[in-house]
Formats: sequence, structure tokens, C-alpha cells
Amino acid sequence: GVNLRGLLRRNWLLIATVVSVLLGICLGVLVREYASLSQLDKQYFGFPGEILMRMLKLVILPLIISSMITGVAALDSEVSGKIGLRAVIYYFSTTVIAVILGIILVMTIKPGVSQTADNIDRTGTMPNVTTVDTLLDLVRNMFPENLVQACFQQVRDLEHPSSIPLSTHTEVNITKEYMIIGSYSDGINVLGLIVFCVAFGLVIGKMGEKGRILLEFFDALNEATMKLVQIIMCYMPIGILFLIAAKIIEVEDWDIFKKMGLYMVTVLSGLAIHATICLPLIFFIIVRKNPYTFTLGMAQALVTALMISSSSATLPITFRCAEENNRIDKRITRFVLPVGATINMDGTALYEAVAAIFIAQLNDFTLDVGQIVTISITATVASIGAAGVPNAGLVTMVIVLTAVGLPANDVTLIVAVDWLLDRFRTMINVLGDAYGAGIVQKLSRRELERMDLTSDVDVANPF
Ligand code: ASP
Repeated sequence: GVNLRGLLRRNWLLIATVVSVLLGICLGVLVREYASLSQLDKQYFGFPGEILMRMLKLVILPLIISSMITGVAALDSEVSGKIGLRAVIYYFSTTVIAVILGIILVMTIKPGVSQTADNIDRTGTMPNVTTVDTLLDLVRNMFPENLVQACFQQVRDLEHPSSIPLSTHTEVNITKEYMIIGSYSDGINVLGLIVFCVAFGLVIGKMGEKGRILLEFFDALNEATMKLVQIIMCYMPIGILFLIAAKIIEVEDWDIFKKMGLYMVTVLSGLAIHATICLPLIFFIIVRKNPYTFTLGMAQALVTALMISSSSATLPITFRCAEENNRIDKRITRFVLPVGATINMDGTALYEAVAAIFIAQLNDFTLDVGQIVTISITATVASIGAAGVPNAGLVTMVIVLTAVGLPANDVTLIVAVDWLLDRFRTMINVLGDAYGAGIVQKLSRRELERMDLTSDVDVANPF
């Protein structure tokens, strides 16, 4: 009927994306079975997906700068302070809930009890990172000494990662990939830029007529960037098809999934419970709207996160879904989403707690109450410190292990399955950010309404 056609037309991109995920999986499995590709062929095969990643990463910088500055400048400083505080309280409490949920599950299911660490292959070595180092680096990164450098921190080719002092260089190398801790994402010091943009936005908001010029400039920049995002989204189905197919072709060890099955079930069920019960319940209590409709509105962003395992690179899509489908006020999304993508990671926190206790179980290491509390605190810190890039949670995992005296190198036990778990936890990270925007909007409706009355700006489009 007419209704169905309307539904298809409105959601064609989402449908195309889901179809391309399925096709990509089929293609990957077929190529794996019937063609023997050389290493180089595999690289060529992943090329269209690589281009998608590059395009998404490309818009992160203008998007974060323009949305944070306009987001803050559009509110007066008292209102932005209140909104910021509400967001931080939401981030913190949901992260702690996720950690507790993870701990309860892993202590009940006990995935590591039936086997020992010797049964699992280790991949690579891990450097030592401590909680204090992570916290200091986090704060250090908030104050970039050079704005231009903060936009393109060059990742050095680390031949010998273990020789790099971690307290001052936040770079770590695991399994061929170059990782950076402390909220660097793909060469961008996101946290540092956010702090700068908040300060800059506050100042612009207080400057009156002169500030207006800058505000209009950044608002136009934001609109133009979002238009670019719209174009990129049209390429997404093709990029995703090859991204997932290439991944399936690339994975070498499928047997590991059998060995690690129970551990993966623990993590995945924790993520599922958090996404379908905990977050929706909080949303419903505060917002009084159907949380699952809200989740559906975010579907495109969730699929993207699942496919590319990066909260930062998903950010452009998160914006579009939150604003277009869930009708969240731009004054809220612009302010809250970039911060959320950087520090609010419920999925990562849950995963860190589960993984640490799993490793303890593998080592026959009994944890007392104090150590479990330590794990919950460090897992929270580790999730805040993790950048929104693939496998970041695996790196900050080290601080959880060292805090309770487990060997840091045991992270390598779970590396082989991380590519899959990473996708799912990233999806929950993105969902948590979106719910946060919805909840903060509801809690801030009075301030927003008052602003609409006292100024001539319009609600949906404040400029
Ligand atoms: N990949 C995750 C994210 O971007 C972080 C992690 O590794 O847990 O949200």
C-alpha cells in the first residue's frame, strides 16, 4: 500500500545499509570458500571500505569544531553549565551501571573457570600503563599546547613500542595497529579541541555583535559539513559491503570463537541487557516516551558503529539520526554528542570489567571485595580514557589489570576476539550517547523554553 511505499522511501538508506551488510557477509564467506586471495588481493578487496572510513574521518574535525562552538555559544553560560553538568551526571551513572552489570554477569557465568590461560594463544606484548598515567594524560590532552597540532597529531611509526615511555608518550602498539590512548582519535586530539571550543564558544557568546559574525561563520560551517555528511551517507552501502566482506576474508582464526565462546556470550549478553533494559528504563522514567522508537531512530548510526567500530567516525551519522529522526534540539546535540562520543562509553566500561574478571578466572586468581571495587573504578576510568577508535578499549584494559595485580600482558589472551566484541561495544557506546542527548534535552526543557521566549531564535534552528 501507500504506507509501505512511504516507509520504504523514508528509510531507503537504512534498508540499503542493512542489505549491504548481509550481502557483504555472503560475499566474504563465498570469497573465503572459493577463492584464494593473496595478501595484496585482500588489500584491494577492502579498498572501497577504506575510502568510506577516510571520508567519515575527514568530516570529524570540522564537525566537532563547528558543533561545539555553536552549541556552546547559542546557550548562555549558566544554561550551558547546567546542561553540561546533567550530561556528565548521566554519563557517569550509566557507565557505572554498565560496569556493575558486567561484574554481576561475569561472576555468575564464570566464563574463565572451566579453562586456564595456557589453553589460549597469546598475540603480541603489552606495555605497562597505570591509572595515574592515564588520568594525567587525559588531563594533559585537555590542554593542547598547539591548536594546529591538536588537529593532526602525527602517529609515529613505532618499531619498538616497548621502548617508548608511556607516561609522556601516550602511544602504544598492539597487533600491527597504532593506538593512542587518552582520547586521541585518528590523529585528532578530540578532548583538547572540545575543551578549547567550549572556552571559545563561551567567549563568543558573551561578545555581542562582534561575536555574532564568528557564530554565523561556525554555524554555516556546521551546516555545510552536515550537507557533506549527507553525501557521504549515499556511498555508505557500497563502502560497508566491502568493509565487512574484507573483514571476513581477513580473519584467520575462527576456532578461537569456540574456545572463547562463553566469554563472548557474557560480554554480548551484558551489552544486550544494557541496551534493551537499563538504558531504555532510565530513558522511560525521565523522558516518558517509548525508548524503543528512539532506538529505532538511531538505527543507521548503530549499524554504522557496528560496521566501523569507532564512535568518533560514527559521530556524523549519530548527529543526523538524533536531529532528523529523534528530533533532538540542535542546541543539545551540538553540545552533548561530541563530548559523549569521547568520554561516554558504557559498552567499553562493561567490557573492561568483564574481561578483567575473566582474565582473573583464567589465572585462578581470587578477587576480594576491595579488588572488585578497584576493577569497577578503573574500568570506568579506562572507558573514559579510551579514544573512540577501533580496539581502544583493549589498550586501556591494561590499567584495570595492573590495578589489581594481574599480568598486563594477559590482555593478549583476548586480542583475537576483540575485533568482533569491539563492534558491539561501540554500538552500545553510540546508543548511550544518543539516549544521553534525549535525556538531557528533557531535563533542560525549561531552560530551553525560557531561551526561546527571551530571544527571537527559533527552537529547531537557533540561528
Ligand atoms: N571502539 C570503541 C569506540 O570507538 C572504543 C573501544 O575500543 O572500546 O567507542
